[in-house]
Amino acid sequence: MSFETNKKISNRYCNLNTYGKNSLASKPDCNLLKVYETLLTAFGPQHWWPAEGAEEMIIGALLTQNTTWKNVEKALANLRLNKQLSFSSISAIPLPELQKLIKPSGYFRQKSARLKALAIAVTDAGGLSQLEQKSTSDLREWLLALKGIGPETADSILLYAFTRPLFVIDTYTLRICKRHKWLPTTTDYTEAQNYFTQQLPADPTLFNEYHALLVQIGKNFCRPKKPLCEECPLNHLQIDSITKEAHHE
Ligand code: SF4
Repeated sequence: MSFETNKKISNRYCNLNTYGKNSLASKPDCNLLKVYETLLTAFGPQHWWPAEGAEEMIIGALLTQNTTWKNVEKALANLRLNKQLSFSSISAIPLPELQKLIKPSGYFRQKSARLKALAIAVTDAGGLSQLEQKSTSDLREWLLALKGIGPETADSILLYAFTRPLFVIDTYTLRICKRHKWLPTTTDYTEAQNYFTQQLPADPTLFNEYHALLVQIGKNFCRPKKPLCEECPLNHLQIDSITKEAHHE
């Protein structure tokens, strides 16, 4: 499965030599690669997604909405312990039982219904191996048609489970970009995604690592209120353009 391949090659991005000077020079704006280099130097490879396989990744992606990863881990552990951590078992398990197992991830009634619908849809489609045959745009459309799967979840699944070159945009990424004025405050998901994909090589392994590194910044430094700029690895990048308001929000 592509998920395994993706994990194996994630170490490739221990440095930027993979792209070399030619690819840097061929891009109209290499700032984002410089940002990536800074982040990778600061944090090292993140080895995302933290899952044993594509099914677990996709289940985790749905459960992680509006909660912490710690809570998701508890729900995944319950599913694993009860041998329900697969689409075939989730599509067959009674809903009340599924609700009980995923309760630690919050919004368990809504999430269990959505998870079950997703499991049934995957099973009806012939499983992940059949979905793998779809083009990236068809697969994205298929995912977005499912209840509870928006662009961020769909792109996370496409990137981390199917190894497709989709840059995932989340709240952290938008906040970092807007504070540094790389993007206007009105930028939406698609515009932000275009900003990254137009400047970076369309490489799923790069996108995998880059998103995970931005999450590190968002979680540990670029907080919604009073960002910790002084300690942040990105504080040398256009720091002058960061508005004072960001520090006093
Ligand atoms: S330097 Fe400040 S504004 Fe920029 S990413 Fe870090 S915490 Fe956020």
